[in-house]
Amino acid sequence: MSMNSAQIRDAFLNYFAERGHEKVPSASMIPGNDPTLLFTNAGMVPFKDVFLGTDKRRYDKATSAQRCLRAGGKHNDLENVGYTARHHTFFEMMGNFSFGDYFKKQAIQYAWDFLTKELKLPAEKLWVTVFTEDDEAYDIWAKDIGVPEDRISRIGEKDNFWSMGDTGPCGPCSEVFYDHGEEVWGGPPGTPEEDGDRYIEIWNLVFMQYNRQADGTLEPLPDPSIDTGMGLERISAIMQNVHSNYEIDLFQALIKAAAEIIGTDDLDNKSLRVIADHIRSCSFLITDGVMPSNEGRGYVLRRIIRRAVRHGHLLGAKDTFFFRLVDELARQMGEAYPELEQKKQIIKDALEREEQQFARTLERGLAILSDEIAELKGNVIPGDVVFKLYDTYGFPVDLTADIAREQELTVDEQGFEQAMSEQRQRAQQASQFGMDYNQQLKSDNKTAFTGYDNVAGQAKVVELFKD
Ligand code: ATP
Ligand code: MG
Ligand code: MG
Ligand code: MG
Repeated sequence: MSMNSAQIRDAFLNYFAERGHEKVPSASMIPGNDPTLLFTNAGMVPFKDVFLGTDKRRYDKATSAQRCLRAGGKHNDLENVGYTARHHTFFEMMGNFSFGDYFKKQAIQYAWDFLTKELKLPAEKLWVTVFTEDDEAYDIWAKDIGVPEDRISRIGEKDNFWSMGDTGPCGPCSEVFYDHGEEVWGGPPGTPEEDGDRYIEIWNLVFMQYNRQADGTLEPLPDPSIDTGMGLERISAIMQNVHSNYEIDLFQALIKAAAEIIGTDDLDNKSLRVIADHIRSCSFLITDGVMPSNEGRGYVLRRIIRRAVRHGHLLGAKDTFFFRLVDELARQMGEAYPELEQKKQIIKDALEREEQQFARTLERGLAILSDEIAELKGNVIPGDVVFKLYDTYGFPVDLTADIAREQELTVDEQGFEQAMSEQRQRAQQASQFGMDYNQQLKSDNKTAFTGYDNVAGQAKVVELFKD
């Protein structure tokens, strides 16, 4: 059975709606209820207060397909894009949620039933994991569902104990994996080869039982709850009999559009995949009110746009191209997300402006970088070079790191940070005026963005929000 991504999204939402779940539309990627979180990175984010018991809804079960961003913040998959078959910056997470209604057993039964009966996936291709100590979940899978024990593994806290952050709802989880077959490299969950793309995680079932306090203690939630998340693009790949997410209908349409606009017929080129990924995150960020800037969320957006523009350059783009993809994206996703259609012009204008601005310095910066690389002794690009590219040519650090990685080089992040803080000191001495804070993020000035990965490009952002 082949289904396109829109049909799969509908099938999921309808399956749970028929079982008493309220269909809740996707919320914004800018969390309205959590100043500590940079972006909505999971389907449960808009429901956080419901899980905590501080927000009451008229329903106790819900289902949604939530737009998510994992670029910056606790989850950051930006570096994975173009390198794995399964990671995007922007993706849709479909989920079913129980707010104190059903719990572990029902959640597992729904997941299995949906995958094997609704989608008719062969049971023998499915593998499951449970948290090491969660015998209850293990027994449900082994005895009630009948999954053979050699396809169930017990996994430790890092992957199978879910927490929203340092504090807040948490609990053990159980994940379902799909085996894409022996022609793809990788091993089952829990083995050293698990990071390959053969066994792909498709669904995470979180058994939310606790609320972690600031001192680390686990306080039982008023009612144990369920939060699940399945990546629409990953399940679409399975349903369409392809191995990589980038081969599904939606991505193929974007890749073809990009190839046509740029004027290449090398459809398997990695840069096209990166561009197809990035047009989604950038367009949806702008839809949700973020504009390119030098701080906070706006800087994440700017970094993604500039990466996309650089990949277009790699493919030989002669003209601004990135904003031209918005039309195809709206054709593909406008029905599910009418706001995308409505804001099309705003998105295009913002992307075009940013691309034009960066195009002025891109070539010059690239030339300087390649001269530096030619002269390089060792395999680390020095911090002052990274800083010059950042400061004069508008190269975010992760962009320089992306270029470096293609040549098996790295960047000196510490040296960059050092150059950055010297610059900041000079600026402070020269002016008594403060920085341009992002108002939304300023709302809670106790917020420490400890979630940032230690990428030098973000160091500035972290620092800004610390004071
Ligand atoms: P992985 O281990 O593959 O990085 P994850 O454990 O980080 O995935 P979860 O946080 O459990 O993912 O999210 C729930 C589901 O969302 C995953 O099982 C997967 O189907 C999907 N998903 C997570 N991250 C991404 C991503 N970057 N791109 C596309 N889908 C994703
Ligand atoms: Mg991940
Ligand atoms: Mg995982
Ligand atoms: Mg997971």
